[in-house]
Amino acid sequence: MFACRPGCAACCIAPSISSLKKPAGVACPQLDQHLRCRLYGQPERPACCSGLQASAEMCGELREQALAWLAALETATGDYPPTTNFTCGTPIR
Ligand code: SF4
Ligand code: SF4
Repeated sequence: MFACRPGCAACCIAPSISSLKKPAGVACPQLDQHLRCRLYGQPERPACCSGLQASAEMCGELREQALAWLAALETATGDYPPTTNFTCGTPIR
C-alpha cells in the first residue's frame, strides 16, 4: 500500500471540497501548523477525506507533483476525490 507523505497536504489544498466550502487551491482551514488534519478520526471529517487513499498516481514522488496532478484533475472534472466511491457534493466554482 502506498503511504501518505508527511508534510504534504496537497490533497487538502488543490481540490475544492464543497462540504467544507473550500475552493480549489486554498488550504483547508482544518490543517494545523504541521499540515495535519485537525478533524482526523472525528465524525466531522468529511467522508471524502476519510475515504481518500494515497496512491503513486495521485501523490507522485514530490508534493509539487501531487499539487499539479490534483489541480489538473480539479480543472478537468471538478471531481474529488479521484475515485467515484465518495462525493463531497457539487464542486465549488
Ligand atoms: S497528496 Fe498524497 S502524499 Fe500528499 S497528503 Fe494527500 S495522500 Fe498524502
Ligand atoms: S478536513 Fe482534514 S483531510 Fe479533509 S481537506 Fe481538511 S485538513 Fe484535509
